[in-house]
Amino acid sequence: MLDQLPLLPADPILGLAAAARADSNPDKVDLTVGIYMDEAGVCPVFEAVQLAQRALIDEETTKAYMPAAGDPAFNTGIQKLVFGADNPALLAGRVSSIQAPGGCGALRIGAEVIAAAAPGARVWVSDPTWPVHIPLLGSVGLRFETYRYYEPASHGVDFDGMLEDLKQAKAGDVVLLHGCCHNPCGADLSIEQWGVIADMAEAQGFLPFIDIAYQGLGDGLEQDAAGLRLLASRLPEMIVAASCSKNMGLYRERTGATLFLCRDSASAEALVSQAQVAARRVYSMPPAHGAIIAGRILSDAALRANWQAELEAMCQRINGLRSELRSKLESETDRDFGFIEREKGMFSFLGLSKEQAQKLRAEHSVYMLDSSRINVAGVNARNIDTLARAVGQVLQ
Ligand code: PMP
Repeated sequence: MLDQLPLLPADPILGLAAAARADSNPDKVDLTVGIYMDEAGVCPVFEAVQLAQRALIDEETTKAYMPAAGDPAFNTGIQKLVFGADNPALLAGRVSSIQAPGGCGALRIGAEVIAAAAPGARVWVSDPTWPVHIPLLGSVGLRFETYRYYEPASHGVDFDGMLEDLKQAKAGDVVLLHGCCHNPCGADLSIEQWGVIADMAEAQGFLPFIDIAYQGLGDGLEQDAAGLRLLASRLPEMIVAASCSKNMGLYRERTGATLFLCRDSASAEALVSQAQVAARRVYSMPPAHGAIIAGRILSDAALRANWQAELEAMCQRINGLRSELRSKLESETDRDFGFIEREKGMFSFLGLSKEQAQKLRAEHSVYMLDSSRINVAGVNARNIDTLARAVGQVLQ
């Protein structure tokens, strides 16, 4: 029976990263996978994570299962991080959450709860979106519609197109929005535009499902959640999938949460019970290590200050790289790369064709996705000139 199953191709992004690793050119540049890398090209462990982890190892007395909803300190901490500590909805008990295995697990649990409320509901996703959204949400039977989002010609959001498409979203539909640092395009909504989406959600009754995987890596922890919080201040209901993979560097520890903003506290409690049953179907209890660490960081003043300082430095480095890359690319080409500086977070499309992206790999050992999406955090002082020169050459 099992031998009938064919070998499947590698995930396109992970496959390209493997090709980059196998390339023996010492000057290769790998901008494929979305992990933060420092100047030395290393994905670092935050100091606050190291400190919390050491203490945890000394103090941990059991490896018994976690509670079904996860670590309580983590849940409290992530709710405050996402919605803001003094958010009236939070204070009114209208918010609940369940710890999930990473942002992916959080998206899947959110999808399971949506499918329980509205089997086969339509989910509106941005064009383009992070490709993994489709299997994560589609595997529970949700259906998809796309709304226009990124406009290659202007390297920005096609907001008129987005509104025109979302006018068709009805009560019972779900609209998936990137909370900040859009993956793959880096083009985010302005706060005014979030306000327009709130108007539409109010008038049309669709449910926003916000994926926030990069809070703190765009403009800062508070600013990056501003759009989401604006929706929360206006709407009765909303689901959020949050991840600590990038902003705490806990990638492999699978640390995230699904958060529910509900009409009242009874509904908030009901939704966690739904999420727990959904989790039980799939994996039962969440993993402990990352969430306990994150819970300690979020609740201990010294660890939190240490973490926030390191995160702010990362965010500033990314934004510094954006400016530097813009000027290097502009000095090697006759194109305007100002959009790189306007975009947020780890990703941008360079605006190259698939053939040009492939030529960069074949002739210059510069690895980016065929869409020319780059991981800006993979750029550093050693590879920025190679990258800019190579782009200059393929654009000639
Ligand atoms: N959403 C988006 C948009 C992402 O880019 C990612 C990570 N690449 C995730 C969710 C999930 O992150 P994780 O499961 O690693 O926490």
